[in-house]
Amino acid sequence: MHILVTGAAGFLGSHLCDRLIAEGHTVIGMDNFITGSPENIEHLSGNPRFNFIEHDVSNFISFHKKLDAVLHFASPASPNRNSPRGYPNLQIETLKAGSLGTINTLGLARLNQARYLFASTSEVYGDPLEHPQPESYWGHVDPVGERSMYDEAKRFGEAAVMAYHRVHHVNTHIARIFNTYGPRMSLDDGRAVPNFIQQALRGEPLTIYGDGSQTRSFCYVDDLIEGIYRLLLSDEHLPVNIGSDTETSILEFARTINRLTENEAGVIYQPENVLGNDPRQRRPDLTRARTLLGWEPKVDVEIGLRVTIEYFRQKMELA
Ligand code: NAD
Ligand code: UDP
Repeated sequence: MHILVTGAAGFLGSHLCDRLIAEGHTVIGMDNFITGSPENIEHLSGNPRFNFIEHDVSNFISFHKKLDAVLHFASPASPNRNSPRGYPNLQIETLKAGSLGTINTLGLARLNQARYLFASTSEVYGDPLEHPQPESYWGHVDPVGERSMYDEAKRFGEAAVMAYHRVHHVNTHIARIFNTYGPRMSLDDGRAVPNFIQQALRGEPLTIYGDGSQTRSFCYVDDLIEGIYRLLLSDEHLPVNIGSDTETSILEFARTINRLTENEAGVIYQPENVLGNDPRQRRPDLTRARTLLGWEPKVDVEIGLRVTIEYFRQKMELA
């Protein structure tokens, strides 16, 4: 297949490009580097099955070669208001990537009669009142809250995908991605994994926002990409949760990172850094992914974290 991947220079997008090329496909990566980095795709330059276009997906996409699939991953993804890459500091860009960017990429998929996959998020569930979260849960989202530029853009994106499927019969797929980590996360994007690992490697206390009792379920990137690839090839049009269902409190997760890095500095509590509506509990119900895709996460969190810690160690030495 000839496949367009938007957000190709980002964390997930770059791993996706690698996987698609390894499967024998030809990939056109698109990115404007607003939160990603050319370093993430440097190893692909010169590969005859990879081409790159620098472009903002919020603007009309003019692409004249035949495409068989479009995967829309372009969007800021970090909620950290202290990071220049966090969506609270890129509010309008985030709204445009999820709305205009989704419409533009859907239009391209329609024109090419191509498969389409939208990178949605567990944030469509907001601060959930149902636990774990099945795809049938409608969510608990503040439309004007501090996370609204991301949550509502993704919710609009899902609605747009379903409309193009129902009206124009585009072969669409929606992945609701839960917290994923691994090599190539940006050092300064402010999410828990890059923050904690770098603090631990510097021998500093890990910054816990709030009291650390909020939960997440962290998925290693290889597992996530496997789920995305299976969903792309499937006949499923309704949303599918993809992520890990091993739930941990943020405090417990921080302690695991301290143990793996032999950091004795402990943690420090920073209630002032909690972004409004920080979800209290998050864990996907993976029944649909298991039954429809025959997929489930396999990588143990300690193994995934060790690989990620090594990646950050090398990056920090180079910086
Ligand atoms: P990332 O910031 O590393 O990657 C996003 C990429 O999109 C970056 O390279 C950025 O430069 C690019 N981009 C942003 N706006 C663009 C635009 N207008 N035009 C072109 N390129 C643009 O983040 P990530 O973690 O790799 O996330 C990728 C996608 O997956 C996002 O859509 C995000 O919402 C979704 N997602 C990620 C997670 C996660 O845990 N990593 C969870 C849920 C959803
Ligand atoms: N968090 C934290 N310290 C940090 C960064 C994040 O305690 O340095 C918390 C954050 O408040 C949230 C959780 O860790 O409760 C996961 O945050 P992340 O930014 O990774 O993603 P989210 O799941 O909120 O989108």
